[in-house]
Amino acid sequence: MTALRKPRLDIQIQSRLSRRWKGIVWHHSASPDRATRDWDGIVKYHTSFRVDYRVVANEEFDRLLRERKGQRFERPWSAVGYHGGTEWVEGRVVFHWGRPLDRIGAHAGVKGLSNLFNQEYLGLAAIGNFDLAPPKPEHWDFNLHLTRAFMDAFGISKSRVIGHREVFDKLGVPRQKSCPGLRWDMDLFRSDL
Ligand SMILES: [Zn+2]
Repeated sequence: MTALRKPRLDIQIQSRLSRRWKGIVWHHSASPDRATRDWDGIVKYHTSFRVDYRVVANEEFDRLLRERKGQRFERPWSAVGYHGGTEWVEGRVVFHWGRPLDRIGAHAGVKGLSNLFNQEYLGLAAIGNFDLAPPKPEHWDFNLHLTRAFMDAFGISKSRVIGHREVFDKLGVPRQKSCPGLRWDMDLFRSDL
């Protein structure tokens, strides 16, 4: 008997405490993965006041808004936009839970067009910039394993596991993102599932 290499994944997906998810959208952080917990930085970012993608204090946010200095103003979200994320921490890949599974995500909306993929698809993020290099084999395998666990829990088919950039294809509009990275081949990822 040959043993398949299985990454360790100690997560409990409680599907009964969840919305009925129809699919999964994968993202990358588009930032370098350092040795520390970069996931915490993403959580902090999403739950802070932001002006043009920069974290600011509440007072500065109010001032910039009043003076109309900035293009994009975002108030703190009640939770990180993704339902979970994966990253290297101290030499191994780990999973972090994010937004509770009974809440719609904030990761795949297309402004002025559609919020469908936030409502119906789970959002998962892998820390790293996969425009520059593909995920390392251990990270790739871990993400596959995690995806399969969510597919099993919710009866999701392979064809409904997509990358963020494919949200635009599904909606029939030009891609606005390369996410989860130009070097993350989604066809290969689906075929590996
Ligand atoms: Zn994305």
